[in-house]
Amino acid sequence: MGEIQIIPPALERLVRSFSALPGIGTKTATRLALTILRKPAADAREMAAALTELHRSIRLCSQCMAFSETDPCSVCGDPRRDGSLICVVEQPADLMAIEKTDSYRGHYHILHGVLSPVDGIGPEELKIKELVSRIKSGSIAEVLIATSSTVPGEATASFLIDTLSSFAVKLTRLACGIPMGMDIKYADQYTLARAIERRSDAS
Ligand SMILES: [Zn+2]
Repeated sequence: MGEIQIIPPALERLVRSFSALPGIGTKTATRLALTILRKPAADAREMAAALTELHRSIRLCSQCMAFSETDPCSVCGDPRRDGSLICVVEQPADLMAIEKTDSYRGHYHILHGVLSPVDGIGPEELKIKELVSRIKSGSIAEVLIATSSTVPGEATASFLIDTLSSFAVKLTRLACGIPMGMDIKYADQYTLARAIERRSDAS
């Protein structure tokens, strides 16, 4: 006697897709998939259309590497912002956290990760080459390194300082105040704003 198929393959496929997302285990994935199944088919079609549209309409800004529907993105394309100052962050969520503080008017550079040799993430996997070419273009005066104060965040900051110290740019880091081990997107707006204002020399 063959094994009884408890979960239909189509549902199983969706559960597998959801479980591949960070923070979603099989149990949550199953609950989400069943929720979608119980809703009208039109809702599922709408969700499928949004997923399909995602990669078609969103690209990376060729300057700062942020996800954007336009190139350059709205930050890089804003003439009121200071293009000679670049704030380097790990993830798009960090950019959003800094924007919320309303105390930063420069540009950004998104690394899309942190150095993590155990996970096979080296400098080549991050948008460091792109950062170096921006600096080589000559219009950058200051690079504010705003990686998290976690072990991989610190390792990434050290690597950036080593890599960028040969260029004629001022390297700064967020001031203390962000607790050690904290991901900057979880820092409160006030602490983050102070850390930007009181940024210190990194080289
Ligand atoms: Zn941009």
